[in-house]
Amino acid sequence: MLDKLSDALKNSIKKLVSSIFIDEKTLNQFVNEIQRALIQSDVNIKLVFEISENIKKRAKEEIGKGQIAKEFIIKIVYEELVKILGGEGHKIEISQKPYKILLIGLFGNGKTTSAAKIARFFKNRGNKVLMVAADTFRPAAYEQLLQLGEQNKIPVVGNPNEKISSNIIKKFKDEFSKYDIIIVDSSGRNALEEDMIKEITAVKEELKPNEILLVQGADVGQSAKEQVEAFKKALNITGVIVTKLDGTAKGGGAITACAVSGAPIKFIGTGEKIEDIEVFDPKRFVSRLLGMGDLDTLLEKAQELMKEKMPEKDIEKRLLSGNFNLNDYIQQIEMVSKMGSLSKILNMIPGMGLANIPKEIINMQEDKMKKFKVIIQSMTPFERENPDKINHSRMERIAKGSGTDISDIKELLKQFMQIRKIVKNLKGKDIEKMAKRMGLSKLPKI
Ligand code: GDP
Repeated sequence: MLDKLSDALKNSIKKLVSSIFIDEKTLNQFVNEIQRALIQSDVNIKLVFEISENIKKRAKEEIGKGQIAKEFIIKIVYEELVKILGGEGHKIEISQKPYKILLIGLFGNGKTTSAAKIARFFKNRGNKVLMVAADTFRPAAYEQLLQLGEQNKIPVVGNPNEKISSNIIKKFKDEFSKYDIIIVDSSGRNALEEDMIKEITAVKEELKPNEILLVQGADVGQSAKEQVEAFKKALNITGVIVTKLDGTAKGGGAITACAVSGAPIKFIGTGEKIEDIEVFDPKRFVSRLLGMGDLDTLLEKAQELMKEKMPEKDIEKRLLSGNFNLNDYIQQIEMVSKMGSLSKILNMIPGMGLANIPKEIINMQEDKMKKFKVIIQSMTPFERENPDKINHSRMERIAKGSGTDISDIKELLKQFMQIRKIVKNLKGKDIEKMAKRMGLSKLPKI
């Protein structure tokens, strides 16, 4: 889904990360690449300029203040993209039961398929769901929904001989209260014609839906905006399901166009299979596009940690001179346990995969971290500062004092030596500087 856009954005970020420092020229180049990626993905040109102007403006303010962190620019890109895609997002809240969802849309956009997809989605979350086949226009629609219902064990009601769709609602209305969620598939047309508006309005009056969702294929790209706006005006839709994001290069255009049309995107369809549907969450969507996990959470956590003053200067000085000792190591362990698993953190930092950190260190379990901490606490200040001087008799004493085995102490020292070596190699490398600016200097260096 949106692989091309995602690859292009990721490539520009990689380039930015690997440049030595950021000045206006690098910034402009970076923004031009982002622009190109968005335009190629059919995003409206006005919107592209708006995004790039915002990125430039915010980044330049920082450059004016002196040194700028690359990850700060990435954060701006992330925030600007999230902003145009709807910010916090608009999830469907099942605020009452039965919660009635009416699906509308033009032929071939995936309305019937989406009805079954979201029915299954809610069923899997423990809801009792009923599907209503109220598409009386397309002859095969009833059969199609019935089949999808059978395949997924979701009940379907309808009448293939009925010509007026609001009559179907009237007929089955009394049954609705037995369910948590009612999903109604309605009739489509080739275009938003007067008789379609009339038909859907009659269904609306009979059903009194909580949500009216327009099912819109992403293959039309940015012209989705006109469709969404027309449907919004004529039928007061509450949101959009953007389908077929898997099969088009224009997905970026459709997604941004729908998002800015004033009707929020509630779901996205990402394939023909019944499970190919996702709740649309702008933050998650952009994080994935940029290939960087949940950047937002990471930045928040990093900021929190920066507030807790650490004797950073000393650590850095010692690191740079290669004198990384067990006092520093214990601080790293504490920091890691505060932030969550190290592998998660590494995944969140762009470019961090480049650091060659051994697997057993990345996967260090929480209880092992605790054990290591106790061991270090049982050491004398001399031992902590001079781990190389810890001989067998010292190990015996430490093991006794910390209630651990000599093998644990050996393991700790072995890992410590490995990390010290990595830290030495990382010294002065770009990755280290980046992590440091993010307030994570203590992390990757462990
Ligand atoms: P309707 O006329 O709006 O009810 O459309 P249908 O539900 O019959 O779907 C039309 C075609 O689009 C079918 O072949 C579906 O399998 C396909 N389709 C629906 N949603 C998606 C999607 O998210 N991705 C892909 N690739 N195909 C989809």
